[in-house]
Amino acid sequence: MDRIISIAIDGPAGSGKSTISKLISQKLNIEYIDTGAMYRAFTLKILNKKISLDDSEKILSEINNTIIDFKDNHIYLDGEIVDKQIRENIINQNVSYIAKIKEVRYRMVELQREIAKNKSVIMDGRDIGTVVLPDATYKFFIIASVDERAKRRYKELANEGEINITLEQVKKELKMRDKIDSTRDVAPLVKAKDAIEVDTTEKNIEESVNTILEIIQGR
Ligand code: C5P
Repeated sequence: MDRIISIAIDGPAGSGKSTISKLISQKLNIEYIDTGAMYRAFTLKILNKKISLDDSEKILSEINNTIIDFKDNHIYLDGEIVDKQIRENIINQNVSYIAKIKEVRYRMVELQREIAKNKSVIMDGRDIGTVVLPDATYKFFIIASVDERAKRRYKELANEGEINITLEQVKKELKMRDKIDSTRDVAPLVKAKDAIEVDTTEKNIEESVNTILEIIQGR
């Protein structure tokens, strides 16, 4: 790409956003920023410190004391690689409670805009097209049926060795997370007015990536 572009990818859990975004970033040779990983990393810190999710005072004092960074395809939390820990199911179960705190979101959005400054990026999350990069060159909203999304998440967890959970449980937790993410007061998960919706229920990864690339390259 010989011009600076930004691509915003939003959608619910398990819609395929991050896999698609990673592949597009490689094809276009631009940086991929996984904003969900940032909320996950901060959640990991709060859980590790055994801070209660209701203790907003302590949570807020941590947010300005936390360094979250991406380098060489790794996510660093206060200088330590946490790629694996942030994918554990305990994080899935708690992250949306942390992500709905207004001050946490302000700080994350600030960091995300800083990382995206002056370069081409593809960023995925829940509020990228609506809040983080409202002037993004391209905006997509990725969806899939809840059954399909639950199946994908279940498979991912199983591959990571998480065996103490059923498909039904995964589906229930996913629906819960979607509900919290889409009904919170600040920056809820909604499709930006100018985003293009892509339904990946019946599509494999390659088809989903190609659908998006055709739109980007066709313009
Ligand atoms: O995308 P991922 O499933 O890793 O995101 C984890 C959680 O982080 C979401 O369920 C949501 O609560 C929060 N999140 C958010 N805003 C973003 C990205 C993620 O609130 N831009």
